[in-house]
Amino acid sequence: MKVLLVYPEFLDDTFWSFKNVVKIAGARAGFPPLGLLTIAAMLPPVWELKLVDMNVEKLRDKLIKWADYVFLSAMMAQTESAKRVIALCNKLGIKVVAGGPAFASDQEDFPGVDHFVLGEAEVILPQFIKDLEEGQARQIYSADELPDMATTPVPMWSLIKKIKKKYASLIVQASRGCPFHCEFCNVNGVQRYKTPDQISLELDAILATGFRGAVFVADDNLIGNRTEAKKILIAMEWWQQNHDYPFTFSTQASVNLANDEYMMQLMTGAGFTMVFLGLETTSKASLQECGKKQNEKCDIAEAVRILSNRGLLVYGGFIVGFDNDPDSVFDDLIDFLQQSPICVAMVGILQAFPNTKLHERLEREGRLTSTASGNNSDASTNFKTRMNLDALVAGYKRIIRTIYSPGKYYERILNIIKYYKPAEMQSKIKMRDIMAFLRSIWYLGILSSWKVRQYYWKALIVSFFSNRAVFPKIVVMLVYGNHFMKVAESIE
Ligand code: SF4
Repeated sequence: MKVLLVYPEFLDDTFWSFKNVVKIAGARAGFPPLGLLTIAAMLPPVWELKLVDMNVEKLRDKLIKWADYVFLSAMMAQTESAKRVIALCNKLGIKVVAGGPAFASDQEDFPGVDHFVLGEAEVILPQFIKDLEEGQARQIYSADELPDMATTPVPMWSLIKKIKKKYASLIVQASRGCPFHCEFCNVNGVQRYKTPDQISLELDAILATGFRGAVFVADDNLIGNRTEAKKILIAMEWWQQNHDYPFTFSTQASVNLANDEYMMQLMTGAGFTMVFLGLETTSKASLQECGKKQNEKCDIAEAVRILSNRGLLVYGGFIVGFDNDPDSVFDDLIDFLQQSPICVAMVGILQAFPNTKLHERLEREGRLTSTASGNNSDASTNFKTRMNLDALVAGYKRIIRTIYSPGKYYERILNIIKYYKPAEMQSKIKMRDIMAFLRSIWYLGILSSWKVRQYYWKALIVSFFSNRAVFPKIVVMLVYGNHFMKVAESIE
């Protein structure tokens, strides 16, 4: 059997696409398609496999015609591109197998798909493969059961050639799930971890590709089960020590990380430098509404400062459009951010995704108007909001344009210089980092607008003379700032 694994394109220039960051990093995309690489490792070894990530290379008709099946995996933001791939496969007479969040709810919307494989692959894929080989595969395979991650294989990295030129960061996943139950989130509550040995093997496999540098630990909440997380972190620290610290890690975690000194110490010891926190909102009533109890209980401004002080730079996720948002929510969020050492703030309007409690509630209340787009820079939503929609959209745009104006962004850079204390860096500066710095000088320090240029040089000079340890991170923040300013400009 010949299988072509295809990862569709992110067509919109969203916050998450990082298109303007990867160019300066000397890559073509932020992250490789970890899900497809993991599925590839679960397919029978006798099958012939090829992979096309459309974010870094062209999908050619010749390659589609080579395959017996095209296996497609897509997130919601890739839906339009996925539909084009399906249409092309249909035209060329090649069967399509589809999985991933884009296909989870409305299968009738994809009439050209021959088989849907929904849910976590470890549970459902073996039966599908058996039926396919016997020529009796059904149209829909769906599993609610959650697999033990000890059975998850090491992703098949060998499918990607010239990996260093393609991706700014590689990925490992240590766990799936989260113990919390935020109303808008579709992450399943049961958290399952890989074993420390599995993680070490995955790091070995990444090292074998020749890649060095940033690795994203793509967990929903790495610290959901503190005991298991600590076992993983101890193994990662040990692995890094034994391989001369080739990687720096980043991940997603809940804000209660700031209460656990030992966890923070293990993370920085293992080479973590950044953590993404779902901070969501400054409104206590809105936190209560969405069931984000862990945030309600703490002072989030203080938590961000503690994490920064312990060497973990915070990226924050924020949402506007909750039923309980006060009219002041936009100014409150801008004020909060401008006092915080958070440069990277992903602000979006609340959307109701399928398989969430929010979707169920809004359906009951008759307030759903369309399907969620999954694009976090969409200035719209898919339900009837309590706040006047025009006021919500105008407020959202005002936040984005304000926090990603060069002057305001520079103010937050100064907060990072003030609060961020990087742990002693074990990982050495790599040629890739030096090249990215030189490219940043070219694109931001020379070619950009006068305003961006001015803040670029000011930030470099201030950090160099007042807190040199943060200098490499300030360069990274300036590169991100350039991306966000461009996305902010594109929001109509
Ligand atoms: S803490 Fe994050 S991952 Fe966990 S349920 Fe809430 S939003 Fe989802």
